Amino acid sequence: MELNTIQNSWKNNFKNPIIIAGPCSAESETQMLETAERIKNSGLEIPIFRAGIWKPRTKPNGFEGVGVIGLGWLKKVKEEFGFQTATEVANSHHVEAALKADVDILWIGARSTVNPFTMQEIAEALEGTEKTILVKNPVNPDLALWIGGFERLLAKNITNLGAIHRGFSTYQKTNYRNTPNWQIALDFKNQFPNIPLFIDPSHIVGKRDGLAELTQNAINLGYDGAMIETHCNPDAAWSDASQQITPEVLATLISNLKIRNANS
Ligand code: PEP
Ligand code: MN
Repeated sequence: MELNTIQNSWKNNFKNPIIIAGPCSAESETQMLETAERIKNSGLEIPIFRAGIWKPRTKPNGFEGVGVIGLGWLKKVKEEFGFQTATEVANSHHVEAALKADVDILWIGARSTVNPFTMQEIAEALEGTEKTILVKNPVNPDLALWIGGFERLLAKNITNLGAIHRGFSTYQKTNYRNTPNWQIALDFKNQFPNIPLFIDPSHIVGKRDGLAELTQNAINLGYDGAMIETHCNPDAAWSDASQQITPEVLATLISNLKIRNANS
């Protein structure tokens, strides 16, 4: 099967645009449940709750994720509030634990997509899964490497796929934490129109101001959804504090979006 011929039936389970919200990192059961409850209470249709439990941090000796204990908190979020759950996997041990804990959606982070050995290991551990797997663009602006990651998954019969555009690393001074390089994501979208494409404004913008504008831009370009970091107390977050927003701010952002082709 070719990547450009796969059918992504999982997308039909959700209303467009598909919103994935939740904290950068799972920190405690209380933080997870409070964040989930407040997202739920927003009254908006936000179907998927994200939280990283294994965190790829730039420097050692800091917080690197709560680990497997967070899988139990994701389960509670699913049971108590009915969200589908999503977390990042970066090696075969993560995959094994996340599949065992029945996490609904797994995403592959930018620092994993960049490494063919890692992608291959993850693809092998996921072989044949019907779970939805979302692949973030690699940290460097390399479309072929992003596509190669998908090809490794497809070769292991993994066909419920999605792409996340989280911007690209640069040493230049810009207003972004990671430059969007829209053309790379649009080239991806043109080549693989059946693979749902998400914007991750949080890691592109890197701060709270500008998230709405960037998300709107993506929606205008025909993206299928957005993954937005949302925390019950963003200022106190253990990772990516400056870019996370409260569930209430998220609700305003989403309800102000001008949606084209609603429900298509
Ligand atoms: C994240 O989603 O919290 C994350 C670590 O993202 P990225 O891989 O895009 O840096
Ligand atoms: Mn983050």
